[in-house]
Amino acid sequence: MARKHKTKANGVAGASIVVVGAGVVGSLVARELTRYEGEVRIVEREPDVGWGVTKANSAIVHAGFHERPGTCSARFCVEGNAVFADVCRDLEVPFGRTGAYVLALAEGERAVLEELRGRGEELGVPGLALLDGGEVRKRLPDVNPEVVAALWAPSVGITEPWALAVAAAENAVANGAILHVGEEVTGLTVHGGRVRAVRTDQATYDVDAVVNAAGLAADRIAALAGITVPGLTPRRGEYLLLVDVPPSLREAVLFPVPTAHSKGILVVPTVDGGLLLGPTAADLPPTQREATETTVEGLAFALNGARRLVPDLPVGKVVKVFAGLRPEPADGDFWLGETDIRGFYQAAGMRSPGLTAAPAIARWLAGEIAADLGLAPRPSFSPLRLALPRAADLPPAEWNALIARDPRYGRIVCRCNRVTEGEIAAAIGRGARTVDGVKFRTRAGFGRCQGGTCTDRILALLARETGRDPEEVPVQGPGSALVVGRVR
Ligand SMILES: Cc1cc2nc3c(=O)[nH]c(=O)nc-3n(C[C@H](O)[C@H](O)[C@H](O)COP(=O)(O)OP(=O)(O)OC[C@H]3O[C@@H](n4cnc5c(N)ncnc54)[C@H](O)[C@@H]3O)c2cc1C
Repeated sequence: MARKHKTKANGVAGASIVVVGAGVVGSLVARELTRYEGEVRIVEREPDVGWGVTKANSAIVHAGFHERPGTCSARFCVEGNAVFADVCRDLEVPFGRTGAYVLALAEGERAVLEELRGRGEELGVPGLALLDGGEVRKRLPDVNPEVVAALWAPSVGITEPWALAVAAAENAVANGAILHVGEEVTGLTVHGGRVRAVRTDQATYDVDAVVNAAGLAADRIAALAGITVPGLTPRRGEYLLLVDVPPSLREAVLFPVPTAHSKGILVVPTVDGGLLLGPTAADLPPTQREATETTVEGLAFALNGARRLVPDLPVGKVVKVFAGLRPEPADGDFWLGETDIRGFYQAAGMRSPGLTAAPAIARWLAGEIAADLGLAPRPSFSPLRLALPRAADLPPAEWNALIARDPRYGRIVCRCNRVTEGEIAAAIGRGARTVDGVKFRTRAGFGRCQGGTCTDRILALLARETGRDPEEVPVQGPGSALVVGRVR
């Protein structure tokens, strides 16, 4: 029997808002909404935050020069880039301003660089500069020697998208939001042209506003409200991940000149010292929204594309391949703001650069909703959130001090990334209930051996800390237990 939550009286202090989806967009929107009085719920069908599109992408904080002026993606990409470092600082999320080069590998590609620079300058992208081939080879000795020119974009950065989603959700909860994971939105009640309630597989919430931040399912959530949207195509991007690569390969993000279809195959440093090659851009039928398998052809295409930019990539350092799905809107732009149904707002159609745009969209959308509902600012709001300690990043004296306070920080569980038992226990204390939840919060199992030596320890710690049998601990969602029973 579903629980029914009654709305408090509508008005300034009593408004109830449900955000559907705890990806990077929904989590940041919920955080921004907690700047105002009212009740904010985040409803996420997965067992954890940030497991949709947010979990598998290039993690680039784009500058904006790829976007068409006049679009929402251009406006919010540039605005998002400008605030990204501050948001990451407040939430203690990794961010690096690496800059990026768009490489022209043939004379005919120079004109594209000019066009991108023109677009970027029109949008207010700072610091763009055209470099000749000699200068590029001097700065980047490993790139294809046939490079004839490059566009240098110093404002491009890299981040950890799922960490941003987790941090934003934690900060939202610290400011009073209620997070429901493992709960699926199944229906919306619309009456008199206004959204009145959100139905889930577990409860019904009376609402004054709903934010559709459901990623690849956003068109389905819109349909529940009776809204017709242009439709979403899952566009698969396949990647190879390398670790232990020379620092010279990790200087900056490398792009080829883009095509009409995509930004092309990139070489991207990751914030934890790895290197990503990809993504491909294959449009799948609209029904295939979980098709995150990789393909032989896709990975070969990604590798060959990356080798065009950097011919001597150390392919022996590949430790993982994976794929993500972009929610590609048929009209090519984000769907943002209030719809024809009063109180039903969208932060959807979040194709790339949705990650970059997310902090700016969240700030803007929360402001719109607060104005529409007449919400007063919440004086107690704090934008700050502390990250989990990361022992491997600490100077020895600080690590020793941590061990003195809690000896579990002296016991290494993941040897590749030097993640300690203390960090894993802390991640579980913050809500991780699955092996992947621990992995994505701590990077345990993310290193060279990809969990070969630590997954059983993580499993045992999850079982111990949450009072479950190991057989009951899932890797991801229900039905994904790693062990089925004892052999002796
Ligand atoms: C291959 C690839 C490369 C990319 N590269 C970049 C990049 O470098 N830079 C950049 O800026 N952007 C990039 N993007 C885009 C970026 O990743 C997305 O725009 C962003 O992650 C979208 O976040 P989201 O919160 O909207 O969606 P999601 O992360 O998918 O979150 C939506 C959530 O809604 C939940 N949900 C769905 N239906 C329901 C329901 N019925 N009830 C409850 N919950 C529900 C889902 O489980 C999911 O967790 C890339 C995307 C891909 C796939």
